[in-house]
Amino acid sequence: MKFGFDIDDTLINLREHAFNLYQKKLNVSVEPEKFQALTGVPIHELFGLTREEGGRMWNTMRDEIYYTDCPPFPHAIEALQELIRQGHEVYYITARAPEHCERTKMWIEKAGFPVQEGSFYCGMGDAEKVHIIRRLGLDYYFDDKPAVLDTLTELPLKVYARDNSYNRHLDIPRITTWSELLDIVREAGE
Ligand SMILES: [Mg+2]
Repeated sequence: MKFGFDIDDTLINLREHAFNLYQKKLNVSVEPEKFQALTGVPIHELFGLTREEGGRMWNTMRDEIYYTDCPPFPHAIEALQELIRQGHEVYYITARAPEHCERTKMWIEKAGFPVQEGSFYCGMGDAEKVHIIRRLGLDYYFDDKPAVLDTLTELPLKVYARDNSYNRHLDIPRITTWSELLDIVREAGE
């Protein structure tokens, strides 16, 4: 079977990592409950920033957000390694900007994610992921972002939302922890 994964906030806890870095940088403390209650992807409003200021903040801190010690979600690395051991194919499909693709690939490999030859796709827009997913003929795909998940409803594959406060309105299968992944695969008899 072919399994595709978004990276940010699907396999790694990037947004919360950025939330913590923003607090340090701005020297403020924001309750984690406020972060967990956000119904949209951006985090700038928690820091009293406008959308534009938030965009500038993200761009200024992007290297630090992407390439320091962002934690993978629990069991993500082990689950993907096990898929490969079982003979499945694992693909990564990230909409990080083209100039970040090479470093991102190196970072996820260094973090321990299994990256096979030809399995890393990067630099497309959210709305273009659907074309890659179709072309690869994926059997499963996992993402956190409504703007991506909404484009996949017509495809003949199993799509899961990686559970987050901003995607709970979507009525599609969801995965809340990566320890569930191998059970899903086993129960489907794949
Ligand atoms: Mg994502």
